[in-house]
Amino acid sequence: MSKKDYYEVLGVSRDADSSSLKTAYRKLAMQYHPDKNPGDHDAEKNFKEVSEAYEVLSNNEKRQAYDTYGHDAFSQAGQSGGFSEGFGGFGSFSDIFEDFFGDMGGQGSRRREQRGQDLKYEIDVDLREAYTGIKKEISFDTLVRCDNCEGSGSEKRSGLKDCGACGGSGRTRASQGFFTVERTCSACSGAGQVITDPCSSCNGEGRRRKNRKIEVNIPAGVEEGSRIRLSGEGAVGPNGSVSGDLYLFVSMLQHPIFERDGTDIFCNVPISIVDASLGGSVDVPTVSGGKVKVKIPPGSQNSDQFKLAGKGMPTIRSTSFGDMIISLNIEIPKNLTENQKKLLRDFNEELTQNNNPERSGFFSKVKDFWDGLT
Ligand SMILES: [Zn+2]
Ligand SMILES: [Zn+2]
Repeated sequence: MSKKDYYEVLGVSRDADSSSLKTAYRKLAMQYHPDKNPGDHDAEKNFKEVSEAYEVLSNNEKRQAYDTYGHDAFSQAGQSGGFSEGFGGFGSFSDIFEDFFGDMGGQGSRRREQRGQDLKYEIDVDLREAYTGIKKEISFDTLVRCDNCEGSGSEKRSGLKDCGACGGSGRTRASQGFFTVERTCSACSGAGQVITDPCSSCNGEGRRRKNRKIEVNIPAGVEEGSRIRLSGEGAVGPNGSVSGDLYLFVSMLQHPIFERDGTDIFCNVPISIVDASLGGSVDVPTVSGGKVKVKIPPGSQNSDQFKLAGKGMPTIRSTSFGDMIISLNIEIPKNLTENQKKLLRDFNEELTQNNNPERSGFFSKVKDFWDGLT
């Protein structure tokens, strides 16, 4: 079933601001409101479409998701839209109806909302994915609206009756001395309505378990523990009420070459004792996938660092980048041949104090130390 474009439903342009959205919505909602069109199924259908469109477009996050992914952004949540037989579906909705239909006395405004559960999903992201940002498909078990009863919980959809215990308000009152205590009605769990013919496929819950697959957008720059909220992608509430949110928790995978600290990237580069002594250059990989030629000055020491500005990780929701810091890891040669040993011994003969200023300095301090003891 292809759905109408939300902007078309409300008759507004794609760049409409929130006040023109609200104006358009109020006008159409007045026009199609079920109280004004009793028994008119087309009007009811239009009313639901208009409400759903407004619910999405009036919420910045949902609107953004809709602009990017269209109806796919809410593949399940959008269909239910949190809208059910009552009119308490969502905050923005009832806010407006309190203005306009304050006296409508409808069953809905009194009905208590039971929002669906928020879900948590831990998502593994590797360094390259965090560098570029990525779309990933995830699958998870959740509760979705029951198709058989369209979330109402009632097999024939006419089996919803106002709860006798609370008269449909979802709240009961009891007097205790001077005080009146209000409680959630236990007979209907606050729903205000009871189902007389529970749906055969969901036992009147209005929802069922399902494994959902959705594509999620991981923005560039995420790091360990980053939290991404997907509004309305959690479990649907009971009897078609509004869905909870889905929270993605980012778990970063280790990288074999790079280490990360915030937006900075660290890389240990092994170089030979000869390159460190004579100087040279080394090709260093960057997290962007490229490489940078780094000049090693003669006489470089172990752990000497070089900074490559702007070659680190992107800052989330920004255009700036951290730095890359390269540390030299000077490797002392192992497994020497007889000839190599001889060359090193000959080399050693040639060494002067000038070649090892640190070592010479250290031993002259040691001498001073011992002399000072006597
Ligand atoms: Zn059902
Ligand atoms: Zn009740």
